[in-house]
Amino acid sequence: MASAMQQVVVVWEWENSQHRWRPYSPQVVQLLERAFSKGLKSVFLGDAEPLLSNFSVHITSLRQLCDSSDREIAVRRQFYPPSSPAGRGAVWQWAGDTPSEWHSYDMDVQCLVETVWSMGEQTVDVSHVFPHLPYIINFCNLTQVKKTSGYVRQLRRAQQAAYPLTKVPADEFVFQPPTLEVTLDQLLLMYTSVVLPTVGVACCICRYMLTEPSSYGDDLVIQLNGCRHAIHLDCLRAMVESTNQVQYLQCPACQSIYGRKVGQQPPGRMSTRRLPIPLPGYDCDTIEISYMISPGIQGPEHPHPGRPYKVRGFPRICYLPSTTQGRKVLRLLEEAWRRRLIFTVGPSATTGEQDVVTWNEIHHKTELHGNDSGHGYPDPGYLDRVTAELARHGVQ
Ligand SMILES: [Zn+2]
Ligand SMILES: [Zn+2]
Repeated sequence: MASAMQQVVVVWEWENSQHRWRPYSPQVVQLLERAFSKGLKSVFLGDAEPLLSNFSVHITSLRQLCDSSDREIAVRRQFYPPSSPAGRGAVWQWAGDTPSEWHSYDMDVQCLVETVWSMGEQTVDVSHVFPHLPYIINFCNLTQVKKTSGYVRQLRRAQQAAYPLTKVPADEFVFQPPTLEVTLDQLLLMYTSVVLPTVGVACCICRYMLTEPSSYGDDLVIQLNGCRHAIHLDCLRAMVESTNQVQYLQCPACQSIYGRKVGQQPPGRMSTRRLPIPLPGYDCDTIEISYMISPGIQGPEHPHPGRPYKVRGFPRICYLPSTTQGRKVLRLLEEAWRRRLIFTVGPSATTGEQDVVTWNEIHHKTELHGNDSGHGYPDPGYLDRVTAELARHGVQ
């Protein structure tokens, strides 16, 4: 039987003297991949990267050769999932000892860092997965701390060209997700309890009575610990699997969030400053928020993985009054930004244009004045409404 094909990212890598595999740049990989698909034997790397003009790769023997010496090193053609930084046009790097010197992590380390960052976590202990790397990464201040010495280095997630995609039989490449990923069983253990079904109450997913088995045949009933809504365990499992996310549970009856909901907002920057002028309706300073997102390539969580996403009207500038409640909303918005919930990728609600970065149901005031448009002040109910919108995303 023919195996199903799956899309993967190709990265050619070379082995350094410490036996670690280092990725070639996307440009060199494009060159190698073209030569590989044409069945060429050998490629001069200088065609893609002038710094490598002394080197060529012998494709059939997977060796990199040097013009000026006999030194040969091993080369490999490696696959990564489209959700890896290589597939998203991103690269994780640590700062070297001189200014503007940045070094890329090995690709498998980058995959781990990207996954944890995508989940909205604040820190990751890299040594749990890679024992030879005694580092703790902190995503809040973008630093890497060496556990053995306490030495701190800066860290960054830079944009670069994406690596090429190719299709391989599904059984040829099985990506092992990092063990840090939350599993559905962990969520069930933390946020639900098995209960006896109440007579006369229906499952709010399948609508069968809870005293009857679910449409999947099993009759185990669970209750969400906070809101106490009861559902068939099988129905909840099927619902979670169909949405393909296991970072959090959402009650199908009242929409309460259990766990950390993380969105699909592309990378970018959020900054704030204080303006010494009052908004209409307030007599205090104003908080100005600036969101910046640059164009990039869609990941597997987006509507069209591998295609570019477009940005319109960035940086987007928004305003809050600097009252106690306004500053609380700012802290919630910062949390929502870290969890990648402020923007999403999809069709524009106003123009219908596909694959654009759009607001994600958390309303912002993009004008100082202008009550008629609804985008400005005065609007006495705004802070309460946006607080409720954030709560619906589990940010409170
Ligand atoms: Zn059910
Ligand atoms: Zn509920």
